This record gives sequence, structure tokens and C-alpha cells, in this order.
Amino acid sequence: MHSYEECLKSKRYEAENYHIIELESNKIECATLVQRHGDRYVVVNPPEPPMSTEEIDASFDLPYMRLPHPKYKRRGAIPAFEMIRWSVNTHRGCFGGCSFCTISAHQGKQIASRSEESILHEVEAITSDPEFHGVLTDLGGPSANMWRMGGKNKELCRRCSRYSCSMPLLCPNLDSDHRPMIDLLRKVASHPKVKHLYVGSGIRCDLFQEGVKGSEKGEKRSERTSVSDGNNAGWEYFKEVVVNHTSGRLKVAPEHSSPHVLALMRKPSFELFRETKRRFTEICKQAGLRYQLIPYFISSHPSCRMEDMAQLAVDLKQMGYRLEQIQDFTPTPMTLSTEMYYTGIDPSTMKPVYVATTPEAKADQRRMFFFYKPELKGQIIQSLRRAGVEKYVAKLYGENNNNTGKQSFKRKM
Ligand code: SF4
Repeated sequence: MHSYEECLKSKRYEAENYHIIELESNKIECATLVQRHGDRYVVVNPPEPPMSTEEIDASFDLPYMRLPHPKYKRRGAIPAFEMIRWSVNTHRGCFGGCSFCTISAHQGKQIASRSEESILHEVEAITSDPEFHGVLTDLGGPSANMWRMGGKNKELCRRCSRYSCSMPLLCPNLDSDHRPMIDLLRKVASHPKVKHLYVGSGIRCDLFQEGVKGSEKGEKRSERTSVSDGNNAGWEYFKEVVVNHTSGRLKVAPEHSSPHVLALMRKPSFELFRETKRRFTEICKQAGLRYQLIPYFISSHPSCRMEDMAQLAVDLKQMGYRLEQIQDFTPTPMTLSTEMYYTGIDPSTMKPVYVATTPEAKADQRRMFFFYKPELKGQIIQSLRRAGVEKYVAKLYGENNNNTGKQSFKRKM
């Protein structure tokens, strides 16, 4: 790779290096990476191959205490422990490939799934704990619905360097069958000591769309938004989760509505969120549930301009959302988004990318989420004028368009 000193001089070299790192980390068999630093070299060895089910079972089936180290005893409750104490991890890895996430860098793109026996064995161990009161808070992993998913033809996967198995289109080689997960949910929920089983991990709704598979170059992105009539039982899984495994608020992460921002985030089309919301509302109506679908969004992600935030605000207003806590993009190590933030270049195309980096520009974008707050109206109008997108003032505050949203949602930071 380009040396450290070259990268300090040129952001293009830095972006090229990142592209190499990403391509290699997407592979099952990746190269050793070498970078010169002064008169020494940094050598990054390839990771271990993904674990087989037998291997991951062997690691999860060890006789853990399932308790924090005794040295923490006098410090009171440990929030991270309380969060995972009554949850069960079904797999490692994530093939979603979101640009701002490091999970695939930590755990790999290939999914290592535990066997059903191993998972049920852990459920037995948890429910035998005298302090267990009947609520399992999660059955999932980095993404809830990737258990037992992966390539049908492993030889094709072995030669593959795609950043994601589901973006920009579902890989035709991907087995995205949700039926084993529905069976597993029902088995765990039927345990005599389990009163409630929740799915707390994030759900990837793009995996529900069996009917829109295609090669990366072969089909248009918009085709992904059509409704599935396939047989991967994805929407059936969604219904099962909404009706039986949600505590009243289901969180999903469309992240934005702008097609070009979503493309750089490597997230599915906003139409998929609209479809998810439509189905969620229908399911709740049929089941007589008053549940909320809570969307997560990010402002000032690389390539996001004020116009994109203004359009997102209009979309949220039209859908009746009033977000209360949201997320402004924060660079974190080892992600594509952070490379774009630092270099101003998309490493996969080497094209320049606009990035809002100043506190003022970021604050302007972030404020757009709160279009419905009267005290921010003046500042929002000013920032829209400054950005040359005054036409959104009428869309947000026009006389015939006074709805400022109805549903109110908070995002945990
Ligand atoms: S061939 Fe398809 S299923 Fe296999 S790793 Fe590549 S994208 Fe994923």
C-alpha cells in the first residue's frame, strides 16, 4: 500500500489505501497488507476464516459464569451487562455493508451461525438463573435476521469481493430464507419459563425482498423497491416479530431519504421504508396493536447537503413524524464514511464527495430534523436561504401545508 508518509501528503493515496483494505477485508481469503512507515513496515495479517457452526458452538457452549468479573461487584449495576444479560446471540458477522458501520471489519462479512441446539441450550441456562423473571430481551446478532444466511454456492463466495451480499441488490447466490428464524423464535418463545421474547437487534428489511434479486450491474436500483412475491418468508418473519416479539416500539434505520446519500451510505431506497411502514401499520391494525415504528436518521453524512436535509424534513412531515433525538454523523475509525469525511473522496470511485465538516454546516443540517419546533423556524428559514434552497421554505411552512407532523419519536444516542 502507499506509505504512511505518502498518505500524509496526499488524500488520494489515503483513499486508494482504504479501497485496498476494504476489498481485501470483503474476501474470505484475503491478502496480507503491508505499509511502509519511515524505515519500518506495518504488516496486517489476514483474519482467520469464518467459523463453522461446530466451531462457533464450541466457543458459545463453554461453561461461562454469565456474570461480570467480581472486581466490579462494589460498583453497582453495569449498564452494558444489564443490556445483554437476558439476551441470546445467534450468530457473528454482518453482510449488510453499511458505510458508517465497523461490524464487518470486526466480525467479517460471512455469517457464522450457531446451531439451534446450542442456542436452545443457552436459553435453558438463562432461564435456570434464579434471577430470570421470564423476559428474554433479544434473540439476534449484529443484524437480527441473518442467522443461517449465506451463499448457496460457497465456491462463488470464496471468489467474491462484494462489499455486501444485499446491497445494492440481493446477490442471486444468497440464501435469505427466514423460515428457520421464524421456527427458532417460536421454539424459544414456547419455553415454559419464557413469558416474553423480544427481538432487540436491528432488522434488515432489505432481506425480505426475495422477488428482486439481481446482479450488481444487471438491474436498476429502483427495482429493489418492488414488493416481494418470493418465498423467503421475509415479511412473514417481520409480522411474527411485530406481533409477538416487539415491546411496543420497533426501531428501523432508513437513515435518509435522498437516493444519492443512501447510495453512499450503502443503504436501501427510502421506498423500502415506506413499504415497511405501510406493512407495519396494516399488521398493527389487524392485530389491534398500538405500536410505533421508530425510524433512525443521520444528518451531515458525506454527500448530504442542505437540500437533502430539507427534502428529508419534507418527507418526514408528509409521513407525520416528529423526531426528538436524532444522530449527526460522527466519524469513527475504519469506516468508509469516515474515509470520505477525511479525504472528501469516495474510495470506490475516487470521485470527490461534498462533506459538511464545519460546526455551523453540521448544526444547520441537524436542525432540519426539528422543522416542527416554532422556536427554530426562523433559523431554519435563514439556513435554507443561505444554502440557496429557499423553495423548501414554502414546502415546510407554506400556508396550505401547515401539518408539522403528528408522531413523536426519540432516538437513543
Ligand atoms: S457470492 Fe453473493 S452470497 Fe456469496 S459472499 Fe458474494 S455477495 Fe455474498
